[in-house]
Amino acid sequence: MLLLIPAVVFAEKVKVRVFSTANITTAKVSFEKTSYALVADEVDTIASGLSAGDFVELTPFAKEVVVVVNGKKMGNFATVSFVSADEEAFLYISPKGCKQRSYEDDLIVTALGSKYLQMVNHVEFESYVAGVAQSEIYGKHSDIFRVQAIISRTWAMRNMEKHRADGYNFCDNVHCQAYHNRCIRDDIKQAAKESFGEVLVDAEGNLIETPFHSNSGGQTANSEDVWKSEIAYLRSVKDTFSYGMKQSVWTKEFSTEKWLGYFAKNHKLDINNDSVRNELVNFVQDERKAKIMGVPLTTIRKDWKLKSTFFSVFYYGDKVVLEGKGYGHGVGLSQEGAIRMVELGIDYKDILTHYYLGSQVVRLGGQEPVQEMEAPMYLAYNDSPTNANDDANDALDFIAKANQTADMPQKQELEPVEEKNVEPADKGRRTSDLASRMLSTKKQLEDNSSTNKNTETENGWVYEW
Ligand SMILES: [Zn+2]
Repeated sequence: MLLLIPAVVFAEKVKVRVFSTANITTAKVSFEKTSYALVADEVDTIASGLSAGDFVELTPFAKEVVVVVNGKKMGNFATVSFVSADEEAFLYISPKGCKQRSYEDDLIVTALGSKYLQMVNHVEFESYVAGVAQSEIYGKHSDIFRVQAIISRTWAMRNMEKHRADGYNFCDNVHCQAYHNRCIRDDIKQAAKESFGEVLVDAEGNLIETPFHSNSGGQTANSEDVWKSEIAYLRSVKDTFSYGMKQSVWTKEFSTEKWLGYFAKNHKLDINNDSVRNELVNFVQDERKAKIMGVPLTTIRKDWKLKSTFFSVFYYGDKVVLEGKGYGHGVGLSQEGAIRMVELGIDYKDILTHYYLGSQVVRLGGQEPVQEMEAPMYLAYNDSPTNANDDANDALDFIAKANQTADMPQKQELEPVEEKNVEPADKGRRTSDLASRMLSTKKQLEDNSSTNKNTETENGWVYEW
């Protein structure tokens, strides 16, 4: 397979603006065992051998950074860099009003105008990926971090230029990817290391967009129902793995008057018309829809601050109750669904291709692809197999059984949403056993080949947890 990957050496360092949502008026930097040098304006070493017990205070003044080392003022500089002496180095940053974080490798500090500081972590790309995996997902099993690392690495390689105009590659919040500390968990480091160089590509070998969300509510969304572009690998798929998790369901109540009034005022709907009124207060989504009376559900979600667009409306006289499923935009990977799939022992590559239909995991860096291109597969127990046989039926039974404990709750059980850890129904079953029984769906292949076009990314991708 020919890989059409941009000429980015993923083993290089990247620049990530940290504390990017905070207005940093002053910050303190401290160290542990390893030593750092402090370099001003990229040439002058103003301190070296900074280690445990030393601290540096930074404050903006007249578009420069005032540097104080161990209580002694060193001067004002346009740029101050903390340069690490060895590969294992990390430092602690404590901006005023923020919780302390630690980051590996180098730190570049500049003034943002006269009042605030900008802090950029110049870090090994793979260390960044591990830090993102730790920030973006939770879980007990290491494979969930491998899944997240592959998604995050793919996203980062596709979006290296995202903050080019700002002088760095990425910010550390959901605009790019959460990166709220260096990776400190050994199991996450190991998972990221095992996935070294693994990325997701489409049938043509291009890196794919890898949007993800907290919970699909049982069905993911088509890309064009949320954003502008129809993307071949971002199709709506059944996702029973997302049932029974923290963010599976939600409810919200509004007065009927307010709910109907909104459609009359904002969308010019005639709420005095019985059929219009009826549809608005009794809207049902057993399967995901894109609109309610012609109004995009994405608009409703934004205006009413809803967790998802996957909701039905129930009428109770003077109030309406919205009963919703899932959390997030619903496109691409459902993180809680993926967590569940890992718990069930499903292979990380099968989890990724379940959500990014027809994509492939390949390993970059001059090594062989992890797997050869093959027919896209997907997991969905309620789809009819085209060539039903005993193995296929076993697989369907297994997935159905695994999801049994997590069926959508009945209406009266919807509130309150409580945290629960669902134990897999059949966790003893081996990964390879299931993987070998998965169904290849001919129709999906045909659908993909007819709609596959490498649509450019639209503005408005939101990566949220
Ligand atoms: Zn950003």
